[in-house]
Amino acid sequence: YDNRDGKIWMDGQMVEWRDAQVHVLTHALHYASSVFEGERAYNGKIFLSHEHSKRLHFSAGQLDFEIPWTAEEIDAAKDAVLKANGFTNAYVRAVAWRGAGPDMGVASKRNPVRLSIAAWEWGNYYGDAKMKGAKLDIAKWKRPSPETEPSFAKAAGLYMICTMAKHAAEAKGCSDAMMFDYRGYVAEATGANIFFVKDGEVHTPLPDCFLNGLTRQTVIKLLKEKGVTVHERHIEPGELEGFEQCWLTGTAAEITPVGQIGDYTFDVGALTRDISETYEKLVRA
Ligand code: PMP
Repeated sequence: YDNRDGKIWMDGQMVEWRDAQVHVLTHALHYASSVFEGERAYNGKIFLSHEHSKRLHFSAGQLDFEIPWTAEEIDAAKDAVLKANGFTNAYVRAVAWRGAGPDMGVASKRNPVRLSIAAWEWGNYYGDAKMKGAKLDIAKWKRPSPETEPSFAKAAGLYMICTMAKHAAEAKGCSDAMMFDYRGYVAEATGANIFFVKDGEVHTPLPDCFLNGLTRQTVIKLLKEKGVTVHERHIEPGELEGFEQCWLTGTAAEITPVGQIGDYTFDVGALTRDISETYEKLVRA
């Protein structure tokens, strides 16, 4: 997969896709000193590009390193990658990390901070679940406390349990897994936030130990503009039974309806379809 045509921006230069390589003694590979962004371009424009660049900086700060390019420079580099590859609709992946250097221990202050930006065409993250509703497993892993990890950074290390939860879910024929948090409240999926509908009102977990996704924030705003009441609160597992509709939000996932979580089932209802159409229009506007 690494040996193909295409262009990747790496440390200030556009390089061939097959040449965008890193050394095995890269600090990030050993100690997860890495942060990233997932973004989508629609009709040639990256939705919330600058917000993503700022979040990348924020995440790096949480991991105690500074990216040597400003958010504006990162915005321009992302646009350059799209242009160099001839993409108008694509997924964009920026990743910043501590590279190889004199520090081979846990501390990494002397190792250079690297940045790369790649893009590729990526359709529906959950395939045809986007139409008929995704089936979710219940993860055995719990989202840790913010005292245990930098919960609000989009940091590679936080995804270890997500990958394991998603592998376990796929082995059971599910598209993804829903995770509870360390207190037992409903948290999110492995790469997307979660929303529920009951009696015409929306309920979504308070993002107090996981990423408050940009898509989540956009969707809450859109719902409020429609006059829908949105409750951001702690959600108990026992409440799942009473919810009528459910969907996931994320840059990759966009808005994906959920048909089932464990033994609980949900309808792909009118509000799910309505908010999904409104979001699709907004990102393409
Ligand atoms: N939670 C996790 C764990 C994620 O990886 C993502 C995707 N970035 C999200 C939530 C949704 O975030 P966003 O809407 O900003 O893409």
